[in-house]
Amino acid sequence: MTDTLTPDTLQKFLFDAAPVRGELVRMETTWQEVLRRHAYPAPVRRMLGEMMAAAALLSANLKFNGALVMQLHGDGPVRMLVVECLSDMTMRATAKLAEGETVAEDATLTQMVNAHGHGRFAITLDPKDKLPGQQPYQGIVPLADEHGPLGSICAVLEHYMQASEQLDTRLWLAADDRVAAGMLLQKLPSYGGTIEGTGHAPAQVGETGAPLVGHGRAQDLDTWDRACQLGNTLKTEELLAETPDTLLHRLFWEDLQDSGLRVFEPLTPHFHCSCSRPKVAGMLQSLGQDEIGSILEERGNVEIHCDFCGQRYEFDPVDCAQLFTTAHVATGAGAGAHQQH
Ligand SMILES: [Zn+2]
Repeated sequence: MTDTLTPDTLQKFLFDAAPVRGELVRMETTWQEVLRRHAYPAPVRRMLGEMMAAAALLSANLKFNGALVMQLHGDGPVRMLVVECLSDMTMRATAKLAEGETVAEDATLTQMVNAHGHGRFAITLDPKDKLPGQQPYQGIVPLADEHGPLGSICAVLEHYMQASEQLDTRLWLAADDRVAAGMLLQKLPSYGGTIEGTGHAPAQVGETGAPLVGHGRAQDLDTWDRACQLGNTLKTEELLAETPDTLLHRLFWEDLQDSGLRVFEPLTPHFHCSCSRPKVAGMLQSLGQDEIGSILEERGNVEIHCDFCGQRYEFDPVDCAQLFTTAHVATGAGAGAHQQH
């Protein structure tokens, strides 16, 4: 099956006539790696796939070395959606459903995660090399704005971006059983100044015959509006079916023809779970010896399954005793060392 999949691609681009940047992403393999590990109802799959496309777009958009974690905390039949994207485009995702509750085939986002108005959305930026005492940055918004509940992942994210980054950002997202895809357009902070002020040479604009001198501001504003209008012509089916390269040519062929669009080397999103025995050991240590002792008493051993990849980690009484020896706590890792020999 793998060899029939289209390679996963994230394509960044930048307009020369104005400080507007964009990205297109399309993932099959990465998305399939998530889906084959879990059996989610169709509306949950769509919601998670759209979040995955959005996480790739936002992560690639940041100059930041670390993990971007998107969490949707639900108060309905879906309790939690988590997507993580690292700077190298490594991704993983999972959803947690409320036990004993069912998700209707036609369930809306509000019904799934904001049934009682307590749903909220969070983005955490966790730097790879944290300074001593440095906490990860987290921004949280409710799943509603002044007009009422937000009905799509797209609306939730655009609301989030406006509340936190205060940059005009537009998103188009789509996901089905095969593909997770999306497009992002963003107006950069220097927008609204003259072309001279942006540092972008206006030469490409002149080639189209458009007036240059004294019209810098007008040209700027037009580029953002035009790019968004073109984005609005994008159909969900198109986003799912076509590669970023095809879509880029379809939407912005005029800019490409005039060399008014800078297209960067594509990035490659891929699935990888960073869970490990030492990390699970660290988590068990943080629970404390009493807690672990009572689990052992009840079940004979401690068994942990990774929510993202399904990997099973088992700690027998000997392993658990080692977690709390002085030597082990001092190094903070290596709980499974004796098993690896
Ligand atoms: Zn894992």
